[in-house]
Amino acid sequence: MKVPIVRILHSPLKIHELIERIDLGSEAKLVGPAVLDGEMSIGVGYEVHFKGHISATVLLTCVRCLSKFKKQFEIDFKEKYLPESLAVTDMREKELSREDLDTFIYHSNYIDTSEIVKELLIVEIPPYPLCPKCRALDNS
Ligand SMILES: [Zn+2]
Repeated sequence: MKVPIVRILHSPLKIHELIERIDLGSEAKLVGPAVLDGEMSIGVGYEVHFKGHISATVLLTCVRCLSKFKKQFEIDFKEKYLPESLAVTDMREKELSREDLDTFIYHSNYIDTSEIVKELLIVEIPPYPLCPKCRALDNS
């Protein structure tokens, strides 16, 4: 969902959204829709605050036995997004590079919630996933 910034200027916006499709790359696939529950509001200097919860099931391939298995993700998040114009000024003033900022930057006059869910989900997916069987073998 693309949330125009004007929608949150005067009051916070509650978001409940089912996201059917998220491109997680070739190694992971979303099973059923991801569920997003959150609240978006605006702070000082058009800084967007977005907090909430993501629930998603992802089909992964085990790196050891190559079997496919499902993994449930429950992610609590609390993020800040700066408008690009402001972020650039901030970087110049503090001589920061883009990597130094712990906040995300938004480039337009809207925030795309599916992009946010994608980014948060990709971070949580293990780079070398092990299925429950192989994980049990590891621990024994
Ligand atoms: Zn396995």
